[in-house]
Amino acid sequence: MATRSEATMTIHSRDNRELPPTQGKIIRVIWDKAERTRNALRTLGTWLTFTFAAVFIPILHWVLVPTLFVASFVLALDKLNETMRSEGGTGECPKCHQTFKVQASKWATRVTNNCDHCHEDLELTSNYSDYPASE
Ligand SMILES: [Zn+2]
Repeated sequence: MATRSEATMTIHSRDNRELPPTQGKIIRVIWDKAERTRNALRTLGTWLTFTFAAVFIPILHWVLVPTLFVASFVLALDKLNETMRSEGGTGECPKCHQTFKVQASKWATRVTNNCDHCHEDLELTSNYSDYPASE
């Protein structure tokens, strides 16, 4: 089953390294093996449907069908190995000290984001102490 939990992130400015870091929070989703298998099969099904649909496109089907067929398995394998994802959250900008929205990301341990107010280039890294040991 997918578990959602709050994780704290340390926020650094990528442009002004001398600014003291601030803190933010993201919601991360962690999938168990059964959920990852379901996600992978769903991805495989979706992309095999696109592959089948591409059969009916004249001329282009010579390229699309083999490409999409291989991509279906590559993307499903990628989904099978995806254990964690960030659903986004909020953080305090180290430069303007306003609260900004952290975008959802495939990566839950290191995220780059821009401040909504001053557009500062920010880097968020997880505080590893609150991450469980990987399976
Ligand atoms: Zn800012």
